[in-house]
Amino acid sequence: MSHPAPPVAVIGAGVVGLTTALAILRRGVPVTIYAQDPDAPQASSVAPAMFTPYAGPAPDRLRRWVESSWRSFVTLAARSPESGVSMSTLREAFYHRRPTEPWLADLLQPRPLPPRPPYALVRDTTRPAIDMLVYLPWLRGRATAAGAALVRRRLQRLHDAFDAGHRTLVHCAGLGAGPLASDPAVRPMHGQVVHAPNDIHLGHSIHDDAAAPGSAYVFRFPDRLVIGSTFQPDRPEPGTDEPTLDDILRRARALLALDGLPTPERLGAVRIQVRGAARPARGSAGVYEDVRLEAESLAGGRRIVHNYGHGRMGVTVSWGTAEEAADLALRP
Ligand SMILES: Cc1cc2nc3c(=O)[nH]c(=O)nc-3n(C[C@H](O)[C@H](O)[C@H](O)COP(=O)(O)OP(=O)(O)OC[C@H]3O[C@@H](n4cnc5c(N)ncnc54)[C@H](O)[C@@H]3O)c2cc1C
Repeated sequence: MSHPAPPVAVIGAGVVGLTTALAILRRGVPVTIYAQDPDAPQASSVAPAMFTPYAGPAPDRLRRWVESSWRSFVTLAARSPESGVSMSTLREAFYHRRPTEPWLADLLQPRPLPPRPPYALVRDTTRPAIDMLVYLPWLRGRATAAGAALVRRRLQRLHDAFDAGHRTLVHCAGLGAGPLASDPAVRPMHGQVVHAPNDIHLGHSIHDDAAAPGSAYVFRFPDRLVIGSTFQPDRPEPGTDEPTLDDILRRARALLALDGLPTPERLGAVRIQVRGAARPARGSAGVYEDVRLEAESLAGGRRIVHNYGHGRMGVTVSWGTAEEAADLALRP
């Protein structure tokens, strides 16, 4: 005897889809997750990831998502360190001074440091660092342990999931959302990172705010450093290339030298692995995080909740957008 499909299907098993599935499961509703290849490189498995919001959504929504996610990650760091989430010091070096929203400063509690040319502002903050090599499998394990069925399937159209018997679809396909929702605002923004041992004994993470070819950073995790990155438009395929990786290391070494590290040239001399994938950006005219989070009501009581276009901050706002997507999916 075949069982009826659960009412809700989540499309996508990146950080956005898995977190959304978990938010729905925690409300007692079963979920099927569809993903074209849950094990292939995708933005979520390539991100290092540091808790870093970007302006793009309406200010009140961004604040709600960031504050909600902050609470979730701080709790995970305290109660579930096996999730790969920890609180860590990030040194930020800004070429240009820009104000921090008061609500965000309340969370980050910035500690200014003496200015160091060419930077106009240098400061330390403590924030969640999410080791995606640990966190993504942990999230998937939590979703399946809570009863989610994970189906390996590439949808040609969103309606394929309605045809399988689901009544509500939560659409979290990242870059795949462009073709699935016929949304021309979705754009690939490729990034590459190098994983290396912390044989330079770096005690904190550090990044700058260079716009092109992307900010330089070295993120410190308990067992390694992750060095990045680039922000390259219109390159959808995963992968890396040597000239770009060399340039990433050159910029990161210069950043560490300005920070006073005695042996920056040793950074990345030994590589553990390299990774590259496209971020699912959405927007135009310098906006890359115009997240689409809204419900679309269809005939016969069917519904699609779109939750995609997280660009550079999909991990950062994952819990906030997941909770709102769950509200929209389960609203009577
Ligand atoms: C180098 C790099 C550094 C980053 N650093 C950070 C950081 O420090 N902090 C931060 O918050 N974010 C960071 N990001 C951004 C972050 O990784 C993304 O915003 C986030 O991973 C997006 O998640 P997602 O689930 O929307 O998309 P993805 O992770 O791309 O997942 C999309 C899912 O949809 C599935 N899918 C797509 N099309 C279909 C289809 N037709 N049928 C079925 N399934 C489909 C895919 O298989 C996949 O499972 C970084 C990204 C990169 C690349």
